[in-house]
Amino acid sequence: MFMKDFHMHSCFSADSEAPMEDMIQAAIAAGLSEICFTEHIDFHHPDMEFLVDMPAYRKALESYRSQYAGQIRIHAGIELGIEPNNLEDSLAFYRQYRSVISFWIGSCHVFDGGDPYDRDFFSHMPTDKVYRDYFEGVLYVVEKFPFADTYGHLDYVMRFDPSFEKYDIQKYSSQIDAILSAIIHQGRALELNTGSYRNGLNHPHPNWPIIHRYQALGGRKITTGSDAHTPKDVASHFPELYQAIHSLGLQIL
Ligand SMILES: [Zn+2]
Ligand SMILES: [Zn+2]
Repeated sequence: MFMKDFHMHSCFSADSEAPMEDMIQAAIAAGLSEICFTEHIDFHHPDMEFLVDMPAYRKALESYRSQYAGQIRIHAGIELGIEPNNLEDSLAFYRQYRSVISFWIGSCHVFDGGDPYDRDFFSHMPTDKVYRDYFEGVLYVVEKFPFADTYGHLDYVMRFDPSFEKYDIQKYSSQIDAILSAIIHQGRALELNTGSYRNGLNHPHPNWPIIHRYQALGGRKITTGSDAHTPKDVASHFPELYQAIHSLGLQIL
């Protein structure tokens, strides 16, 4: 089966220690035909500095690309975390690198002044408010950064919700529809991200009802990513994900 992991981090991301070559070898072992590194840039992140040494990143990538040519295609990408505090810097970075970085993920990690990865939003705010503020943040990313090739882990915040099993998407349907419609209108893609399984969820990001809604609104284009930060997570849950994608008739970019 032809599979691509277009959301992978290596030690060029602040939150990964994985050597790039280990990630590439894991991808080959998993039978992938193409991968894209999507290192983190989140300007002014409140908890950690998510910047990338771009010259070193590009140099390493070039060298592995030729070393592994014939075995796997390797693309250069960036996952750009966008929020009102960093929009200007993010757009300037995009303009500076768009000719050399071929794949951009637009993500919302920070909202209400923090990242749910580091902040315990759910015990300090009503669940409803967390979801509403988060989806507002996602819509902001989609509207202000219409250049992303795909939009990452659309319901990322679920990972941190202690009551995620009870989460009712219908409650946020107007916000979700606005997000999905904007993605479709811009001709961009929706990411299907399997990092969710590592966080105890039993479905990809976004959850299936959102994927079905995307299709109902006319969306077809998707990308697939494991959000791996270590070699063992490369392409995790891909065989079942790809089976579902094929049966739904979605188009993989
Ligand atoms: Zn992310
Ligand atoms: Zn990521």
